[in-house]
Amino acid sequence: MIEMCQIEHSFTLGRKGSERHVPVLRGIDLTINQGEIVTLIGRSGSGKSTLLHVASGFIHPTKGSVSIAGQEVTHYNEAQWADFRRRYIGFVFQNFQLIPSMTAFENAELPLVLQGTPLDVRRKRTMELLERLDIAGYAEHYPSELSGGQQQRVSIARSLILDPPVLLADEPTGSLDSENELQFLQLLQSLNREQGITMFIITHDDKVASIGNRIMRIADGRLEAHSGQTTGRALEVITT
Ligand code: ADP
Ligand code: MG
Repeated sequence: MIEMCQIEHSFTLGRKGSERHVPVLRGIDLTINQGEIVTLIGRSGSGKSTLLHVASGFIHPTKGSVSIAGQEVTHYNEAQWADFRRRYIGFVFQNFQLIPSMTAFENAELPLVLQGTPLDVRRKRTMELLERLDIAGYAEHYPSELSGGQQQRVSIARSLILDPPVLLADEPTGSLDSENELQFLQLLQSLNREQGITMFIITHDDKVASIGNRIMRIADGRLEAHSGQTTGRALEVITT
């Protein structure tokens, strides 16, 4: 579903004439199959977010190629990427990124509004999804009136409202307390199981990483399989 081949990326620092190139990704190969959850673990500054930004077109890698859902997207321009992301990729962020002046319902339905979907269809789909995510009772609440766990559910509703086949998440539980973290990880697992959504989840936390069918580690700009840990673990096991 996601295929990254020989990805290299350097950031350029310093003034013109005395630039330094700082290599962050040094030849990354990663294939994520349809329906798989792959988690990526690594220290702060190891290049996790950079790799996710490459997979979502926000960073164009110095070298290498990216293909998603069978489409070679490496050389897409901004407009092509924007259109592609809307149709294929849902994002989950650490800080939720909800719009404070909109209710939970309005935040969740926003991608449908931008797409020009008629009101009755929007209302039905949004309420169904909020119910599925167990936050329909908070539809009229504003983000400031919701707990972190509830805000993350609204945020995931917004990222799933257009039914993307791929979900990308950067430290998705970073702002949640441990109880909400667990519930949120269980939610991701059930979305993966029931809807077959392919997931690439970045974290620095071993517990979060353990929901992956496969756990990768990034260090020195390279990937390795993260061994010595059970993968695809049912979270019920973790709680006990
Ligand atoms: P992680 O998400 O694993 O914490 P990042 O991918 O955000 O790491 O960053 C990897 C490295 O690249 C860090 O050393 C960071 O300082 C550097 N970096 C990230 N973004 C930029 C940028 N826009 N310009 C220059 N350096 C950057
Ligand atoms: Mg990061």
